[in-house]
Amino acid sequence: MSQTVMDRRGLMLVLSSPSGAGKSTICRHLLDSDRNLQLSVSATTREKRPSEIDGVHYHFTSERNFHAMRERGDLLEWAEVHSNFYGTPRDPVEEALSKGQDVLFDIDWQGTVQIRKAARKDVVSIFILPPSMEELKNRLVRRAEDKDDVIQRRLENAKVEIAHWDEYDYVIVNDDLERAFKAVASILEAERHKRDRVVGARGFVDEMLK
Ligand code: 5GP
Repeated sequence: MSQTVMDRRGLMLVLSSPSGAGKSTICRHLLDSDRNLQLSVSATTREKRPSEIDGVHYHFTSERNFHAMRERGDLLEWAEVHSNFYGTPRDPVEEALSKGQDVLFDIDWQGTVQIRKAARKDVVSIFILPPSMEELKNRLVRRAEDKDDVIQRRLENAKVEIAHWDEYDYVIVNDDLERAFKAVASILEAERHKRDRVVGARGFVDEMLK
């Protein structure tokens, strides 16, 4: 197939789940295995965890700066989650999409609503569920990067997040990381071949049938 046939605007792959459902690991594997996918690095006012790197996992910023970005319209979407602010810087996303690069968003349900409103046709959304609340709690405790009261708050918020599962295009239960990862990768691959996204296809076929 020629290059032009595959010409397409990048798609926006949105992954949501409660904290601890394994979404970050799935995101990392996806990014490692797929060179046409880049992460949208969010801005956040949350405290950096020991394992995180500024500019890689998040752009850690002050509340004052966050709200300045928001007021300037620099954020594609934003939300308050677990008493911290999170938002998606607009420019890197626009630039990647226009180059045909797909963009991965690790955002909550509130952000997904806003992104879907702004760009419905470009958005593919997946909700990752934990196998049970018990297992979700175990994972949060095992991770032990957060304090006890933070873990408790995250569990309460998990229920709110999970309640929005049916607003997503796809749902995956993460009872086996490898299987869940393969499901996400398959969805991404299939969505890339959706006829509507392959803008050069009609010209290619017309030329073939001449
Ligand atoms: P964490 O603090 O565990 O990294 O993330 C907490 C929650 O905030 C996760 O559900 C994550 O998906 C969500 N989140 C991270 N970045 C953004 C963002 O830019 N926008 C929105 N709406 N949610 C985000």
